Amino acid sequence: MLVEAARTAIADGQPGSAREIATKTARRMLTPVVNATGTILHTNLGRAPVAANQEASYSNLELDLTTGERGSRMDTAGALIARAAGAEAAIVVNNCAAAVLLVLAGLADGRDVVVSRSELVEIGGGFRIPEVMDRSGARLIEVGTTNRTRAADYAKAVDDPGSDVAVVLQVHQSNYRIIGFTESPTTKELASLAAPVVADIGSGLLDSRCPWLEGGPPGWLADEPAARQTLGAGARLVTFSGDKLFGGPQAGIIAGDAELVAQCARHPLARALRPGSLVLGALQQTALAYLNNDGQSIPFWQMASLTVESLRQRASAIGVGTVVDTLATPGGGTLPGVEIPSVGIAIGGDHRNFLRNLGRPIIARIEKDETVVDLRTVQPTDDQYLAESLGSIN
Ligand SMILES: *Cc1c(COP(=O)(O)O)cnc(C)c1O
Repeated sequence: MLVEAARTAIADGQPGSAREIATKTARRMLTPVVNATGTILHTNLGRAPVAANQEASYSNLELDLTTGERGSRMDTAGALIARAAGAEAAIVVNNCAAAVLLVLAGLADGRDVVVSRSELVEIGGGFRIPEVMDRSGARLIEVGTTNRTRAADYAKAVDDPGSDVAVVLQVHQSNYRIIGFTESPTTKELASLAAPVVADIGSGLLDSRCPWLEGGPPGWLADEPAARQTLGAGARLVTFSGDKLFGGPQAGIIAGDAELVAQCARHPLARALRPGSLVLGALQQTALAYLNNDGQSIPFWQMASLTVESLRQRASAIGVGTVVDTLATPGGGTLPGVEIPSVGIAIGGDHRNFLRNLGRPIIARIEKDETVVDLRTVQPTDDQYLAESLGSIN
């Protein structure tokens, strides 16, 4: 690659630019960055922070250590997540988009799926419910209107003798809100319909009571749907992301009724969508933290629950720039408009380029002509580096 950079520079008639071309190439590689944006689940920065370095090692990915027989990779992380979510069973796929695709293909290929017109969403990166539905082989039946859909609208579609409804799909309006003259039925109201309810909750909140946080659920969580309560209300399956409020690696989880989960797992697409041992290992670690009610070892919850006072102390200790009150956000296309009071450091002028081009890039934001680094998303072990880097501006 270095030779190629040199040749490109010479061909351009500017041999001196070889170093710059080589540097640009290196900057395109994946590298750890300091997230000082205050957006805890930053989609451009890999959503939830996860530990990933590991020695080259075999694992019992598909070996049952008790019997010595072939095991299933689906039995490990999936079973732990199911337990933590209060579900009978769960399987893991590549992301939540894959989870929705697999559920529709596994349960509704060639049949009808009922969705409210207010939930035909597009999630970032072109994940559109009607298009995923189309690719899964399921037929979409839209009911209700953009702002108001009632249980009776679903019932009419399910009970229509001309329809063949395999699934009633509820999709959480993760990244937008419809406010004003609105109405939508609860999962509980839909649970009595003659077709199973599948809820794509997206965000991956496991339990609305947050037993893994000492102080219980933070106020900003509002009424975000949680896996345990959605299943308790009668959804037969939920789907969610591994790297949003669940706080693990990129993954998608299908959890709920054991027979329906098994039906998804048997579909040929399951093989194409399954994750590898690195992801399953990281998910297992996250699931165990939940089972231990140990939110402090899940970076997302640890960052989300830091007190403003502790952040202010860190900001003063850094000793550069002005300590300012800021507003952090959960991010990740969840909880739109939600802000978490936070503390940052402001420095006059726009220094984002300088900070982004450091050996270990720092991603900051700009506010009223000042560069702001928000400490809520910065690991305390990076405070010293942040102090030196901010100190070297100018
Ligand atoms: C985020 C989200 C998805 C897509 O999840 P990925 O893990 O990014 O594929 C699907 N559905 C809902 C409701 C979401 O919030």
